[in-house]
Amino acid sequence: MDPFAIEKKQMITEHLLHRGINDSRILAAFQKIPRHLFVREEYEDSAYTDNPLPIGHGQTISQPYIVAYSLQALALRGDEKILEIGTGSGYQTALLAELTRQVYTVERIPELSDAAKARLDSLGYANITFKTGDGTLGLMESAPFDGIIVSAGAPFVPDSYKNQLTIGGKIVIPVGNEFSQDLLRITRTDENKFSTESLCPCVFVKLIGEQGWRNGTL
Ligand code: SAH
Repeated sequence: MDPFAIEKKQMITEHLLHRGINDSRILAAFQKIPRHLFVREEYEDSAYTDNPLPIGHGQTISQPYIVAYSLQALALRGDEKILEIGTGSGYQTALLAELTRQVYTVERIPELSDAAKARLDSLGYANITFKTGDGTLGLMESAPFDGIIVSAGAPFVPDSYKNQLTIGGKIVIPVGNEFSQDLLRITRTDENKFSTESLCPCVFVKLIGEQGWRNGTL
């Protein structure tokens, strides 16, 4: 028995389905994954509300709607290799593991990465590779990726992400200042060609540029 079955159903209907998330694979993944196991015990009762919640170290688990919207923007078919920046609780990582073939996820805070790995191992996921380190660099050793999804707000799109994308691959990333960002989708249409769409306004925690952010490049 799922102790949060009612709350989960309400989340899926009200915050996803009624707001335009219609990809049946995404809805099934949200149905399958126990979001209450990804928040601290004291927030369990709020796990299925459409809010970000604290996960320690000044970070948050992102709200369900924006996670679903970002995943839908990647338009996954199931055979992709995806890079996620900002593992956090590992909730979106689990969704990605349901939706695609191989997931690489990078988190700069070792304690969060370790906790997410333990959680996802215990849920039985075997198609996720965890890395601790500076995600602004992407993950050169495992590139190229069919998609890169960034869970923290950046001042601009790091070149490393563009360079580590397959042709036809997409980056979904919040770009702006620390108070508000635009969710952008960048598609690599050719070796040196990228098209950018602005999808919606959003608010994420900051993507920390460990090497410092410089003008337009890292
Ligand atoms: N998808 C996650 C979101 C966590 S919040 C979830 O729903 O739980 C964003 C995460 O990005 C934080 O854990 C933060 O530590 C991480 N982060 C910030 N800057 C980073 C960087 N340069 N490299 C890797 N991770 C980073």
